[in-house]
Amino acid sequence: MAYRITLIPGDGIGPEVAGATQRVLDATGVGIEWDVRPAGMTALETHGDLLPEETLDSIRRNKVGLKGPMTTPIGTGFRSVNVGLRHALGLYANLRPGKTIEGVQSTFDDIDLVVVRENMEDLYAGVEFDTGSAEARQVIEGINAVSAKQIAADAALSIKMITPEGSRRIVRYAFDYARANDRRLVTAVHKANIMKFTDGLFLKEAQAVAAEYPEIEFNDRIVDNMCMQLMQKPRDYDVLVMPNLYGDILSDLVAGMVGGLGVAPSGNIGPDAAVFEPIHGSAPSHAGKNEANPTAMILSGALMLRHLGERDAAEKVEGAVAGVIRDGQEVTYDLRADRDPSRAATTTGMAEAIVARL
Ligand code: NAD
Repeated sequence: MAYRITLIPGDGIGPEVAGATQRVLDATGVGIEWDVRPAGMTALETHGDLLPEETLDSIRRNKVGLKGPMTTPIGTGFRSVNVGLRHALGLYANLRPGKTIEGVQSTFDDIDLVVVRENMEDLYAGVEFDTGSAEARQVIEGINAVSAKQIAADAALSIKMITPEGSRRIVRYAFDYARANDRRLVTAVHKANIMKFTDGLFLKEAQAVAAEYPEIEFNDRIVDNMCMQLMQKPRDYDVLVMPNLYGDILSDLVAGMVGGLGVAPSGNIGPDAAVFEPIHGSAPSHAGKNEANPTAMILSGALMLRHLGERDAAEKVEGAVAGVIRDGQEVTYDLRADRDPSRAATTTGMAEAIVARL
């Protein structure tokens, strides 16, 4: 076997779309030995832990994982397993391609964008202080002692943290991705006109990194203007790189431009490991019915193949998925114009149609 990959089937529809993905990737002939490990609600029930150490160890050993969606327990005080996984493995880059697939209903056609989102810093670093807490008062007093602008005593605080190293490595990742995948332009997205120190630092580091890649064009856009331009002239853009919060929002915007949840893959990449996953959740109402759309997880598998350097196999999978969707016959209910479940393909049926086209 060429590769040993950790597979986390996850919860809800996870095991079904994961099974369909295994079937398609196995059929490419790229030898994959699957190391199946638990995480999510399923793992909580069997191992008493949402993110068992054995699963993390498996990814650390294999260096690459493919993950189905997980159900987030509500009202139990658990933080998101996905965030836990990214932090435990140092997966600092979130890769979100958005490419039009003919046959998927969407407002735009001919979109081919890649959002690279920083995953660890910014307002999402988790440095927060609740309104009225002793910690918040202490922080506010400290800031008010040195700042011309004063913070109200009862304010809640979320700290926006951007580092030179964090900025450099995410922008470098975006340029390396552009170079490896023949992309022509990298755009840094920021709000440096207002947040001169944090976003200003991100922009300064982005400009410095861009100088190391003279063959790839570079420009920058202010985030609000970027949103408008994506609606007006999306074809002017290619790879977009940005801090965490803007990346969270713009990556969903781009997913929406190409048809939404059911077809959107992603990757989380760090220096020592990478985990690929569909962006959709566990869709509990469809679980166990063999009717969920496996496309997003199969395309996440293709993204994983690219990461492994198996570009030909990745292109074969992407081409087969596009062909099946373009034909519009062997697709799950959500990809049908009439959304008629009685005439739709099952999850496994769609996977077999993709395999037949490889
Ligand atoms: P969801 O993505 O599960 O579902 C949103 C809507 O899209 C639903 O109508 C669902 O039926 C449909 N849908 C999603 N994926 C589909 C697919 N592959 N095929 C057909 N239909 C599909 O989002 P939600 O309902 O907000 O969340 C359900 C659970 O998933 C929650 O516990 C949430 O925390 C979790 N979640 C996990 C992840 C992840 O693990 N990466 C991401 C988002 C949500």
